[in-house]
Amino acid sequence: MRIILLGPPGAGKGTQAKTLTTKLNLPHISTGNILRQNVSSATDLGKQAKGYMDKGVLVPDNLVTQMLLERLKAPDTTRGFILDGYPRNLNQARKLDCALEQKGMAVDLVFYLDTSEPIIIQRLTGRLVCKTCGTNFHIKNMPPKIDRVCDNCGGKLTQRSDDKEKTIKARLEVYKKAVLPLIRHYEAKGKLQRIISDKPQDTVLNKILQCVEKYNDSLKV
Ligand code: AMP
Repeated sequence: MRIILLGPPGAGKGTQAKTLTTKLNLPHISTGNILRQNVSSATDLGKQAKGYMDKGVLVPDNLVTQMLLERLKAPDTTRGFILDGYPRNLNQARKLDCALEQKGMAVDLVFYLDTSEPIIIQRLTGRLVCKTCGTNFHIKNMPPKIDRVCDNCGGKLTQRSDDKEKTIKARLEVYKKAVLPLIRHYEAKGKLQRIISDKPQDTVLNKILQCVEKYNDSLKV
């Protein structure tokens, strides 16, 4: 099953994807994570992407799309994937449709995690991410047992460099400009499921899993 998680930064896409990946046994592919890995290993791609990421704007479509299509060639994606952070605009959505079509495939479900702005700001300004395993924590809402240490693997928790209020605002503006055409694109294809993501994590997860189940049932008929 090919799933896309759509939504503003701070909607909980990464958090939901981490649980869904285990529940559905599908790889979690986050373009943001792949880009950050490239930045920290100072690859050519990382060097090109860093400036954009620091400003909170999109890395050029061709760079990200090429990177994603490379990732989708890996054998762990044959049963499907959970895509987080791609597509970010209509051009990317079309590129993905095209690449999948060439393999006789299509996106199955798109979850639009709709979140209000005050919640986004509150989540992102307090977000802590494990440098080793990528698990997300929150200073107030989900603090680790030991300060700045990951409960999961003992790794160091840090704040993402783009989770500063000024960059968050820039990222939100970029998001708002591109999201409507994306929503319309997937709505027109009958793939879009809108989920209110201001709710607790488990509530959001259960809604997603219900939709997945319903979709799987519809395929059996
Ligand atoms: P994220 O982790 O999804 O919030 O992404 C962090 C940053 O990586 C974004 O602010 C962009 O600069 C860049 N990025 C991630 N995914 C994409 C994408 N699909 N297209 C362009 N830039 C992206």
